[in-house]
Amino acid sequence: MNIYADNAATTKMSKAAIEAMLPYFDQIYGNPSSLHSTGQYAAEALFMARKIIAEILGCDAREITFTSGGSEADNQAIVSAASIGAKKGKKHIISSAIEHHAVLHTLEKLKKQGFEITLLDAHENGIVRPEELAAAIRPDTALVTIMYANNEIGSIQPIAELGKICREKGVIFHTDAVQAVGHVKINVVEDNIDMLSLSAHKFHGPKGIGVLYAKKGIPLTNLIEGGAQERGKRAGTENLPAIMGMAAALKEAVSDIDENTAKLIPLRDRLIEGLLQIPHTVLNGDPKLRLPGNANVCFEGIEGESLLLLLDSKGICASSGSACTSDSLDPSHVLLAIGRPHEVAHGSLRLSLSEENTIEEIDYMIEAIKEVVAYLRNMSPVWRDLQEGKRSYVIQ
Ligand SMILES: *Cc1c(COP(=O)(O)O)cnc(C)c1O
Repeated sequence: MNIYADNAATTKMSKAAIEAMLPYFDQIYGNPSSLHSTGQYAAEALFMARKIIAEILGCDAREITFTSGGSEADNQAIVSAASIGAKKGKKHIISSAIEHHAVLHTLEKLKKQGFEITLLDAHENGIVRPEELAAAIRPDTALVTIMYANNEIGSIQPIAELGKICREKGVIFHTDAVQAVGHVKINVVEDNIDMLSLSAHKFHGPKGIGVLYAKKGIPLTNLIEGGAQERGKRAGTENLPAIMGMAAALKEAVSDIDENTAKLIPLRDRLIEGLLQIPHTVLNGDPKLRLPGNANVCFEGIEGESLLLLLDSKGICASSGSACTSDSLDPSHVLLAIGRPHEVAHGSLRLSLSEENTIEEIDYMIEAIKEVVAYLRNMSPVWRDLQEGKRSYVIQ
């Protein structure tokens, strides 16, 4: 048995994406900036890919900038909006406490440069409240950056509403939509989004490629200087095979979105229901307003890391939170932000499904996790103390 349930960390590439890439390694391998015909074939393909992606997002092809992935897109969006703001004396940025580190670390850097950062509470269900955003916006607010869907607990934000508030107050609104694109329906116009980050490897495309959408009129700041690629805003010869793979993966993900959602939600809910049968277990994130494939729970009295290793030995690929934090011993900032105490946050498990998972796999995972949690609790001094009443349960 080998079950992959870590799709929030990365996904397997789709056949369509792989096939779309292949000709661009050894047939249409020219540099899109070259004037000769080999280069111009590449330039045409690049233009087509940009058009496909723009159409899916609901924007103009000129509003699409290819980046090396979600992290770069987040960095560039935030740095650009900060620079626009700073020119007008606006040095206040609003975000949320549960953002990806690509956002949070960029904000920390800006803080050292004199920006003031307000992080909105995501409350117990992992969802930001629009009225709290409205109250936090000030005359000197340069940017609001709030993720579309959370990578750990799967909570989906009321993006259109948040965007509307920003639009009314004339503040740039960026969303890290890396977990959402290809999984939930997004349209930058309907959702009132000014800037959006996406990454291909989270929707069955290749790694190392992403997009920053920036609405016309929002000038981008270069993170990489050099040639005039991407209208001078992102230097470096375009990664055409990856761009073609991304466009194909996105097209497929979006056209299958209803079918995939209808398949995933019952699997996800069956999984969550099964896991919550384990005593002293709590669901992280909103039960309904969550990504179709995301399940995240905390088990009291155990360490997420040992759980992961034992699950791996049973053929289950899972995560304790985000891939970026799983090699550090600090509990997830997201779980702490939604109010989980340290000792509870340590016992977290994230299972992120794809449409390839089956009901048999779900049932196998539930049984395996029940066994492993019982085994670990048996050996845990914390669990013994809880059982003997020497300390009290946090999760009732
Ligand atoms: C994966 C992820 C990123 C980073 O994307 P990369 O393409 O891996 O750089 C950023 N934000 C969120 C929410 C993610 O899930």
